[in-house]
Amino acid sequence: MDAEFFRAWLTEAASVVESQRDHLTQLDAAIGDADHGINLARGFSAVMAALDQASTPSPGSVLTLAGTTLISKVGGASGPLYGMAFRQAGKALGSAEVADLAALAGALEAALAGVQKLGAAREGEKTMVDALAPAVSALDKALAEGARAEAALSALASAAAAGAQATVSMQALKGRASYLGPRSVGHEDPGAASTALILRALADVAGRELGP
Ligand code: ADP
Ligand code: MG
Repeated sequence: MDAEFFRAWLTEAASVVESQRDHLTQLDAAIGDADHGINLARGFSAVMAALDQASTPSPGSVLTLAGTTLISKVGGASGPLYGMAFRQAGKALGSAEVADLAALAGALEAALAGVQKLGAAREGEKTMVDALAPAVSALDKALAEGARAEAALSALASAAAAGAQATVSMQALKGRASYLGPRSVGHEDPGAASTALILRALADVAGRELGP
């Protein structure tokens, strides 16, 4: 997977975030302050503009630019967290011209570690970690079993979606939604939902570009 592949991922993610902007904002209206979709759509549109302006010759440079842009353009909790995730992933990929599946898995592990270092959320606390952590585990498992990239990334995306769905029954213990206490139960976490969309975009691009 080269820089072009990673730009295609972010382009697909930007398009999905834009089309799901209102949905994500409605999820945030239920347990937060109704800005998650707006925040992320603004951020990803800025990422697209930044990728147009700057040269990004390596996968790592693509993800690092995305992370830096998200930090500077997205307010709220999710901007710094997603920014950290993409920057850590970019750093893990370094300046290599291509990333294989193992490198991508390592980058996503670094993204998860970055999110958890910054936000201090563990699994079960109703945050984006509840989508990202099981996704990373599913990718690691697929990799260990020798799965091809598109199958492994499809497993990643499915685990993220299941993880996001599982946040419905959780009580929020981190972030703005935690102010609601038990009243946060019964709603999907917006950040987990957006993480699942962004990782589904990765699987979709892999399915399209890497073939069956
Ligand atoms: P804000 O809560 O500041 O309005 P957003 O609405 O953009 O920011 O993002 C909210 C999402 O951020 C939550 O749904 C949750 O997934 C994620 N989040 C909030 N706090 C944390 C944290 N400490 N660790 C991980 N994710 C978090
Ligand atoms: Mg919000």
